[in-house]
Amino acid sequence: RTVYVNGTYLPEEEAKVSVFDRGFLFADGVYEVTSVLDGKLIDFPGHARRLQRSLDELGMSSPVGMDVLLTIHRDLIAKNDLSEGMIYLQITRGAPSDRDFVFPDPETTQPTLVLFTQAKGLIDSPAARTGLKVISIDDIRWGRRDIKTVQLLYPSMGKMMAKAAGADDAWMVENGFVTEGTSNNAYIVSGNRIVTRNLGNEILHGITRAAVLQFAREAQMEVEERPFSIDEAKEADEAFITSASTFVMPVVAIDGVSLGDGTPGPVARRLREIYIEQSRKAAI
Ligand code: PMP
Repeated sequence: RTVYVNGTYLPEEEAKVSVFDRGFLFADGVYEVTSVLDGKLIDFPGHARRLQRSLDELGMSSPVGMDVLLTIHRDLIAKNDLSEGMIYLQITRGAPSDRDFVFPDPETTQPTLVLFTQAKGLIDSPAARTGLKVISIDDIRWGRRDIKTVQLLYPSMGKMMAKAAGADDAWMVENGFVTEGTSNNAYIVSGNRIVTRNLGNEILHGITRAAVLQFAREAQMEVEERPFSIDEAKEADEAFITSASTFVMPVVAIDGVSLGDGTPGPVARRLREIYIEQSRKAAI
């Protein structure tokens, strides 16, 4: 694979980042994952906007402009002959000469920019046919989940808890209400009504979420953005998750309780189709 590090394209074996990098030492960095279909980027402007917001919230800046970031994405697609998969982008606060909790002076410490590709079949996914089983776990993450930081230890532990329980993923619960999945936004469906957590500091503002809610409204589905409990979720007709790399993925069981007949529901399947069709059309 050819990867990008701080202005240079090089083979992954030759790519290097300092041991003093604050991403490595403090999880002081932000990231984005953008999907690629037919060699084109899905919703790049949405990811670029959220990246800028994450950077602003942490008082960081990108070493290059968003137009250059787009060029780097496209170069990596070409250099790696990527037709379907993801591009991972990470910006950290750079590598000062010593480990120090205090932020380094941005005049002397440049941020670190890393991008790499990951080939993956996104459309023809077995999980989309069978649906996912999720468990519920406590949401013990920090209070600024709207910033897309690289601090992903608890979500990673959540996936391991799911795996140990024989499930595919975990939904996190805080004060009795579902916040989101470990790496995705969470939805339940009753009849024609879709319910998903409202935006705030408690969840990541999913780029896929924004697109899917718009498509749902355009398809005359009812959308309610509000907290829902895990008990309400277990009684729903169906459920699903969204993320850049899974699109819309049906959920068929929560804590061992099957939803509906235990197969992917019609609303989730329809939204998956619409999302893939529309975002493929708009890809750049
Ligand atoms: N919530 C969390 C916690 C996530 O990590 C992600 C994906 N990174 C999402 C939601 C979905 O966001 P997006 O649709 O932008 O991929």
